Amino acid sequence: MKTPAGKECDYYYADYHRGRDMQECRLVEKNPESKPWKPHHCQLCPVPDILRATSDGSLKLEITIKDKWFGFKEEITVEGWCSECFSEVPDPMKGCPNCTKSGPSILDLMEGPH
Ligand code: SF4
Repeated sequence: MKTPAGKECDYYYADYHRGRDMQECRLVEKNPESKPWKPHHCQLCPVPDILRATSDGSLKLEITIKDKWFGFKEEITVEGWCSECFSEVPDPMKGCPNCTKSGPSILDLMEGPH
């Protein structure tokens, strides 16, 4: 589903059916350490780019929204781990270095060269 920032994200969900007005990030809601999600957070979030960059199905992500600069700014940090070998994934953009060969995702192949 397309986020308010206009990028496809597997974790974004919105329901405007029959007068409903509901939007949520199903990744942030799994992390009790994070500040609550608001639609503008999608503008800062690298997850859609990570999902596009890797086709690693065993990559699991956790994002945390935090205050920065005494609450004047916010940042989103992303951590990755591999559900195949249970190790940390230092660069989620590249997928797990132990279990996958990085490469373009199927979406990149379908869209052709940039
Ligand atoms: S905050 Fe990030 S992970 Fe959550 S819906 Fe927006 S783009 Fe997706």
